[in-house]
Amino acid sequence: MDQIILEDVKRGKVDLKRKDFEDKKVLVTGGAGFLGSWLCDILVTLDAEVDCLDNLSTGKLANIDHLLENSKFKFLNEDVCTFKHDKKYDLILHFASRASPEEYQQHPIETLKVNSLGSHNMLELARKHDSTILFASTSEVYGDAEVFPTPESYLGRVNPIGPRSCYYEGKRFSEALFTAYHRKHELNMKIARIFNSYGPRLRAEGGYGRAVSRFITQALTNQPVTVYGDGLQTRSFCYVTDTCIGLLVLLINEETNGEVVNVGNKEEITILELAQKIKQLTESISHITFHPLPEDDPRRRWPDVGKAEKILGWKPKINLEEGLTKTIKWFKRKKAQIE
Ligand code: UDP
Repeated sequence: MDQIILEDVKRGKVDLKRKDFEDKKVLVTGGAGFLGSWLCDILVTLDAEVDCLDNLSTGKLANIDHLLENSKFKFLNEDVCTFKHDKKYDLILHFASRASPEEYQQHPIETLKVNSLGSHNMLELARKHDSTILFASTSEVYGDAEVFPTPESYLGRVNPIGPRSCYYEGKRFSEALFTAYHRKHELNMKIARIFNSYGPRLRAEGGYGRAVSRFITQALTNQPVTVYGDGLQTRSFCYVTDTCIGLLVLLINEETNGEVVNVGNKEEITILELAQKIKQLTESISHITFHPLPEDDPRRRWPDVGKAEKILGWKPKINLEEGLTKTIKWFKRKKAQIE
């Protein structure tokens, strides 16, 4: 495994209890994606038996190829909507979905299907075998929020026919479906509303690219750093190991059955400040250029993570500068390997 990632994965061992995961049969859908592959890595390190389900629509084999020889890991190259294996999993992490705004808008029907048919399929599997299942929801369910920091009780300000609706309405439907299974079938389930996460393996290319990964790649190659709008919109970025540890603590926590919990970092920053910070940390000579703001781009995202802190005893440990420094180091190494 990549050395930078290995050091971070070891953190999971410190913050999580091996006995909660050892020999547990775990299914990770979207397991070759950004968060999914980190979850697989951490779970394998904790001696869980991990099945990684991914059709590689946005996930990458390169994210998991170091695990393929591990007897505790299995890769299932299948679609979550049609996956039919009848295996008893103790734990299911349902992460399959496109997540990059540009890319999910290019595939709106697929995005809605995975977050409806795919979620239904996973819920049926969980119900049949009495598994505990966690759904990867998103801060996007709040839409263009008006309450800050945004708590789980905020109902959202969304546009069902807007360009981002294929993603957030899909996620909102899944939340409703998970809740219905919990009420009707007493299924053990949790919903995590994940705020922007970043770190090594975040894709940077084309429509897959996110602000952090694109800015780092642009800065490292001395290309213009492309800020959308005036850059005064904000996000709160959470380093990937913090996110994954929060998710796994939530998964095994018994007090949060049937509940929804925000998982994110409280450190809010404007996108322009992010671009400047990345330029400074990479010592880049890139210029910042301004481009039209995509339609429906939320103006502000800042999570209230009080519930996670109180019930799970979890809070992020890596601040933005530290997380960006690690991520830049990884992108630099990747660039050097390509050259
Ligand atoms: N963004 C940007 N330049 C880019 C990519 C993204 O200014 O090259 C902005 C985007 O418009 C949004 C923010 O950065 O306001 C975060 O975008 P990202 O795709 O990372 O995640 P989102 O929060 O929109 O899902």
